[in-house]
Amino acid sequence: MAFFQPPPSLGNQFDEDRVLRSYLARVLPDDARHDIAPALSELGALAAGELYQLQAADRLNEPVLTPWDPWGNRVDHIEVTALWKRAAVIAAEYGLVAVAYERRHGALSRIDQFARVHLFNPSTDVYSCPLAMTDGAARTLSLHNNSNITGRALPHLTSRDPAQMWTSGQWMTERTGGSDVGLTETVARRDDDGTWRLHGTKWFSSATTSQMALTLARPEGNPPGGRGLALFYVETHDAAGKLQRIGVNRLKDKLGTRKVPTAELTLDGTPALAVTGLNDGIRAISPMLNITRTWNAVCASSLMRRSVALARDYARRRRAFGAPLSEKPLHLDTLAGLQAEAEAAFHLTFRAVELLGRDESGEATEDDGHLLRLVTPLVKLTTGRQAVQVTSEAIECFGGAGYVEDTGLPTLLRDAQVLPIWEGTTNVLSLDALKAMGQTAAVTALRAEVAGLAASVRDPALVEVSRVAVKSVDRALETARGHIASAASGIEGLARLEADARRIALTLGRSLALALLARHADWSLAHENDPRARAAALRFARNGVDLLGASPDLDDARMLAMDEA
Ligand SMILES: Cc1cc2nc3c(=O)[nH]c(=O)nc-3n(C[C@H](O)[C@H](O)[C@H](O)COP(=O)(O)OP(=O)(O)OC[C@H]3O[C@@H](n4cnc5c(N)ncnc54)[C@H](O)[C@@H]3O)c2cc1C
Repeated sequence: MAFFQPPPSLGNQFDEDRVLRSYLARVLPDDARHDIAPALSELGALAAGELYQLQAADRLNEPVLTPWDPWGNRVDHIEVTALWKRAAVIAAEYGLVAVAYERRHGALSRIDQFARVHLFNPSTDVYSCPLAMTDGAARTLSLHNNSNITGRALPHLTSRDPAQMWTSGQWMTERTGGSDVGLTETVARRDDDGTWRLHGTKWFSSATTSQMALTLARPEGNPPGGRGLALFYVETHDAAGKLQRIGVNRLKDKLGTRKVPTAELTLDGTPALAVTGLNDGIRAISPMLNITRTWNAVCASSLMRRSVALARDYARRRRAFGAPLSEKPLHLDTLAGLQAEAEAAFHLTFRAVELLGRDESGEATEDDGHLLRLVTPLVKLTTGRQAVQVTSEAIECFGGAGYVEDTGLPTLLRDAQVLPIWEGTTNVLSLDALKAMGQTAAVTALRAEVAGLAASVRDPALVEVSRVAVKSVDRALETARGHIASAASGIEGLARLEADARRIALTLGRSLALALLARHADWSLAHENDPRARAAALRFARNGVDLLGASPDLDDARMLAMDEA
């Protein structure tokens, strides 16, 4: 008999997700949990069934740009893949954006929404990208409440009717920079009739098929730098369905996210409306970034879960040296390490989700607000890095099969690799976290959060790892404080602070994740008699949360980095 390897398979992704189910049991009242369970169960079935099959069938398809029609007209039409078209319908029907604005469960609505996203994301080829920006745009427009714009766009962005739902782009990155958007070159000129028109090139536009976008441009005559930029609202098509003086120059040929039609755009007099005033655009668009960064973390954590779920299933099916991999101590040790990372990432991410929900519904305390400001970059950067490491290791768990394209597995790693890049790279967000730490109240709130979590734990081993979390946070804050004090007395201190920013931020992110995981594990032991989260917390602590070490010598770093003696 010839040997054939049974592939990994997935069951209902809600039923099988112990971590999500246990979390919801802790944080949601019974009525809310029962209310949302049918939708989650349906999404869990879609994620393992129709969408998963469509993902495999659609594997080789990519978006196609048609610049010209047969009669010589410039059309710049982008045809997206079959899975994306189906994902758009399901996203609307299941309220993947709408749920957050309907607020059926008050401050807990964000948990409902992101539980749906967590199930939907790994089977939908990064359709989460336009949805994240849509949610970000809805939040931004709600906050600025410009009646002309919000009244028109918000009902579309938050619609549950697939025929009515719009998605939104976020056009920030230009050739001059995605991190340093103060260098934006796009200019806004006012016509005689008062219409603003945008002229410039947007270098990365992912939601290119969206009906609208929020973007930055410099009103003519404004000063250089971020303060001189304004936030504009653009409708991409006119009433006849024609692009409004927007040229799609080409689609990017990318490492991953290959189903996302990321394009380079030329704006050649694109009509636009100023959303709120004619300067301070970076500040005005920042609510959008907080939302997209939260989506990024949910996508990172759900992609980690999917990778581990597939690797776990495969371990039962694949035999080597006379036994299934699931009986090999070293393979089990590898999987355990991955599960712990995924589990910690989940609890870290959903803490940010909880804070966001409280903030939006007016239930956040002042401390919650400070915590949210600091936790948002920490959660995004921590989970983004974890996702790359976990998906890479998970692929190795399949041996050669993990490297073969038609297993569908390599896509996990390719799609994970964007998570630490877009919406702010790890370094840029580490610096942003330092900026947030400039507010003493944010530091106090984080310290109190971790200490409070640790104090609530009863199981002796969990008490021990919670102490590790508190100690690591203290060390990171102490390091930052030391650098800040010496920065006040010279440029060298500032350089040290920047050089250590990533180690400080990752230590804070991982320590908070550990404290949250330990608190949940303690609850799960007491209420579910389930020791698995406890094992995850102990393993995550063992994986390491304190990444500080001694601060490296700056001159050595410069010498090594640039290979100059
Ligand atoms: C697939 C994909 C889709 C995208 N879609 C969109 C989109 O829809 N809309 C949009 O606006 N943008 C989009 N982007 C752009 C993305 O947001 C930017 O690429 C990202 O923010 C980084 O900016 P950059 O490319 O200019 O990198 P740079 O800013 O040039 O960064 C290069 C390196 O320098 C580091 N760095 C930068 N500044 C500092 C500093 N001060 N200290 C230390 N290190 C630093 C960074 O961490 C990075 O490692 C997309 C990108 C990708 C890959």
